[in-house]
Amino acid sequence: MAETECDVVVIGAGPGGYAAAFQAADLGLRTVVVDQEAQPGGVCLLRGCIPSKALLHAARVISEAEDARAWGIEFDKPRVDLETLRRRVKTIIAKLTKGVQALAGSRKVELIQARATFKDKTTLSLNGSGGSRELTFAHAILATGSRPVVPGSLAIDDPRVMDSTGALDLPDVPARLLVVGGGYIGLELGTVYHALRSEVTVVEALPRLLNGADLDLIRPLQQRMERRFKAIKLETKVDKLESRKDGIAATLAGSGGSTTEVFDRVLVAVGRRPNTEQLGLETTKVALTAKGFVQVDRQLRTAEPAIFAIGDVAGEPMLAHKATHEGLIAARVIAGQQTAFDATAVPAVVFTDPEIAWCGLTEEAAKAAGQAVTVTKFPWLASGRATTLGRNDGLTKLILDKESGRVLGVGICGVGAGELIAEGVLAVEMGAVAEDVAASIHPHPTLSETVMEAAEAFHGYPTHLYSKR
Ligand code: FAD
Ligand code: NAD
Repeated sequence: MAETECDVVVIGAGPGGYAAAFQAADLGLRTVVVDQEAQPGGVCLLRGCIPSKALLHAARVISEAEDARAWGIEFDKPRVDLETLRRRVKTIIAKLTKGVQALAGSRKVELIQARATFKDKTTLSLNGSGGSRELTFAHAILATGSRPVVPGSLAIDDPRVMDSTGALDLPDVPARLLVVGGGYIGLELGTVYHALRSEVTVVEALPRLLNGADLDLIRPLQQRMERRFKAIKLETKVDKLESRKDGIAATLAGSGGSTTEVFDRVLVAVGRRPNTEQLGLETTKVALTAKGFVQVDRQLRTAEPAIFAIGDVAGEPMLAHKATHEGLIAARVIAGQQTAFDATAVPAVVFTDPEIAWCGLTEEAAKAAGQAVTVTKFPWLASGRATTLGRNDGLTKLILDKESGRVLGVGICGVGAGELIAEGVLAVEMGAVAEDVAASIHPHPTLSETVMEAAEAFHGYPTHLYSKR
């Protein structure tokens, strides 16, 4: 066989793609990354995780300043300079993309800016600003990510209707914002715009927010949002959007019938779909699942043995850390290691205020599967640390095997839940039992004690809760 130009080509420089490339290079493979963007980082770094979390930090500063009134500390009303805020987010993105570029350089990973399509199972056509060329490879890793779904009925040609990318650009602070979809993006960006002083209405088609998380974790968040947002309308669909001079008229259809309300801007956040089109996949044996993701096995190998797929394009959950983990595995498999994806706990974090985080088995999934579990809970009302923060609106719960007490899942709602969940991931992956968690000394006063005390509840004796035996 003729020598190929690289051992591995990675298509897409998101958190899946660049992690895969770095790992491949570290394992001695000649590695090239192709991305159509001028900067590496993918959706996560350029228009996803990082800008949204930077804005959520700003939102948190505003809401903490408001909450400080209860402590006798009063600030003036915040004056938000949108231009400085936008610039700050851009600076954060630039700093991190430069970091990725530097790491690629030190590893001798070549970054090519071009759009890639398969010409056949060993050749890519690259089309970039510098012209077109071909690249032959021994292995390819498809890491092309996903893009927002905009249903036809909501796809009107009006810049006031935005997807997450448009909303992250902060074009202005609309007086009235409609958020279509009560999932991750709707609630995170709704939180940002609320803090910036928009009146936010969230419309969710299902009877609940954040499908997939246990309802008792969602409750504290929903209660806080109900106090702050204009409205959260569940079991309601946005049937139609119409451009008007005075705003966007939205037809909302719920159990009580249809109403029309006018908003200054609309954020459509109803899910994302994998980028599998116009990739020349038909020139290979790569197959798609019924949901349109690239079909892979546990080694992330597609139906075409030399082509792998990772991250959003390879299936749910569409989360950056899942993409990264898969990237590492695909690279190791290509390098000849015997390994496969076998994580039981992919953590999920919604960075709202309070945050919601969970991993492993949820209580509702256990119930649906008829699995015998014991669920222990530690309400943050009883947490000293939560009280010092003035944030008792939280809950930590463990989903434990009924017999052995093995930790099968962890769920947390409260400030900092996203940081706390990592202990849950470790407990699930290490096969810890409740006793292991309860017997590990947690520092006082911290929110992490809520995990320890929830574990103590398995044997019936958490220090800061009392129930009659
Ligand atoms: P992506 O990051 O989507 O990268 C794919 C790359 O492939 C892109 O750069 C694209 O330009 C390139 N590409 C596509 N097709 C081609 C082609 N033919 N040729 C060349 N290049 C191509 N996840 C979290 O875990 N935590 C969060 O807090 C979080 N927040 C988010 C907030 C928002 C607003 C959004 C939209 C998403 C968020 N996500 C979050 C999801 C996260 O961004 C994705 O799960 C993650 O980016 C997926 O990584 P990936 O490597 O699979 O692909
Ligand atoms: P999502 O799947 O989280 O939520 C979409 C919501 O929209 C669902 O609850 C759905 O029932 C609802 N919906 C669908 N059609 C509707 C309609 N016509 N009217 C009203 N509601 C409707 O999707 P998303 O919020 O767009 O986020 C996409 C993905 O991006 C997430 O699933 C997640 O994988 C990723 N993401 C992750 C994070 C994070 O990790 N913190 C943050 C943002 C995005």
